[in-house]
Amino acid sequence: MTDARSAQVLVIGGGPAGYVAGIRCAQRGLDTVVVDVGRPGGTCLNVGCIPSKALIHAADEFARATAAVTGTPTGITVADPTIDLAATVAWKDGIVDRLTTGVGGLLARAGAELIRGRATVVDGKTCDVVRADASMVRITADHLVLAAGSVPVELPHLGFGGPVLSSTEALGLTAIPRTLAVVGGGYIGVELGTAFAKLGSHVTIVEATDRILPQYDQELVAPVERRLEALDVTILTGTRAGGYRDGRLAVGTRAGPTGAADPADADGPAVPAERVLVTVGRAPAVTGWGLERLPLDRNGPFVAVDRRCATSMRNVWAIGDLTGEPMLAHRAMAQAEVAADAIAGGPAVFDPVAVPAVVFSDPEIVTVGADPAAAADLTDDGVVVGRFPLVANGRAMTRDRTDGFVRVVARADDHLVLGIQAVGAEVSELSAQFALTVEMAARLEDLTGTVHTHPTVGEAVAEAAAAALGRPLHR
Ligand code: NAD
Repeated sequence: MTDARSAQVLVIGGGPAGYVAGIRCAQRGLDTVVVDVGRPGGTCLNVGCIPSKALIHAADEFARATAAVTGTPTGITVADPTIDLAATVAWKDGIVDRLTTGVGGLLARAGAELIRGRATVVDGKTCDVVRADASMVRITADHLVLAAGSVPVELPHLGFGGPVLSSTEALGLTAIPRTLAVVGGGYIGVELGTAFAKLGSHVTIVEATDRILPQYDQELVAPVERRLEALDVTILTGTRAGGYRDGRLAVGTRAGPTGAADPADADGPAVPAERVLVTVGRAPAVTGWGLERLPLDRNGPFVAVDRRCATSMRNVWAIGDLTGEPMLAHRAMAQAEVAADAIAGGPAVFDPVAVPAVVFSDPEIVTVGADPAAAADLTDDGVVVGRFPLVANGRAMTRDRTDGFVRVVARADDHLVLGIQAVGAEVSELSAQFALTVEMAARLEDLTGTVHTHPTVGEAVAEAAAAALGRPLHR
């Protein structure tokens, strides 16, 4: 028997986009249902941002302890550190449990109903949901919010399964592979490749373009490359993965018909790999849940939306990874708030000056707004760029991590800050200041005129702005 439920808002997907939309709609007094086949929190909380950061942290602690076996500049020596990866994974799973349970609680407190089940779109107002116990409920709603997220891209000849892992399986490994080939040197490949290298795997990164993290400029990536080299990671650029057989990954420099190296064309020495982690991007989850029944405008593979997150169908909204790049949780959450406000009838527009991005590599990379090359394209009046190296920052010295720099990019005429970037240990925590600076249209003088706490790495921001004004203080 099929149950029936009507609602004002039905949200498909309980990830950062969907659960935030659910909370906000319910807070606005709308009768709201959120459906997710898994635990709330989506990729980010369950198998993405949060568990990967837990693993990265544990790997970092272990690498620090391992390095201290031969003594450190701080005078600390550690004898024979060990790591029990199964215990690490259990600790990570505990964090995920707390957060996903917390999201369920937040939805309940706001008054939204969370249904665990698989939703299939019937039409622009109707969805069928098959619950875990196989019972079905048909939900009709005034507004449909599509927030189904994204899925990892699979290479045709390196399908996930067995030793070929997506990031999801890599985060659940309970034994450290002696050798790991990482296909794709983007966000996930570099983050997890670094973590496994710190845990003791010999890691080879296979990247199709001419360098890792190709979306970032070389100046920002160079400190990360140096660290990977120090961790004995092999980086093969201009290289594609071929087939995997008998513990070896074929690689080649020629692209085959599928965009990967054709196994038959593999012209490089095969890479020894107990496991292969494939991280060649993510794609919007547009199949398998009836989305094709809605005649929606598309933007490439993504669902096209306007600045209110409205699709081309009345009262059908889309948010998060389904709607395009950058596929980042914080963009999804910001869109969700806009969509909820729009549904509730308020004025709402998703139009940020910049969406910050962080790579949790070692050292970390933060970018907000335009880099020097992009800024030069934005204005005819020229740009000024100020840099401050962390080697001259007192706090960085006292943390024994002086690799990296902060870079501020501004218009030459009125000093409007167009972008801020940094690479350095734990600089991800500066990303909020960078975003606020760009979003509030601050000028270089606003940065130099703000009293920055001493001694902090954040002082490097004011110093970089001072350098851009031609009056550096500590350089
Ligand atoms: P990505 O787009 O960052 O990197 C994929 C890399 O794979 C690219 O460098 C590409 O050149 C390379 N590549 C593609 N095909 C290849 C092939 N056949 N052989 C070798 N290399 C190949 O994608 P990702 O790392 O899989 O991450 C997916 C998404 O997840 C990102 O777009 C990002 O939005 C999100 N993410 C964000 C964070 C973060 O914010 N810190 C962390 C992880 C993931």
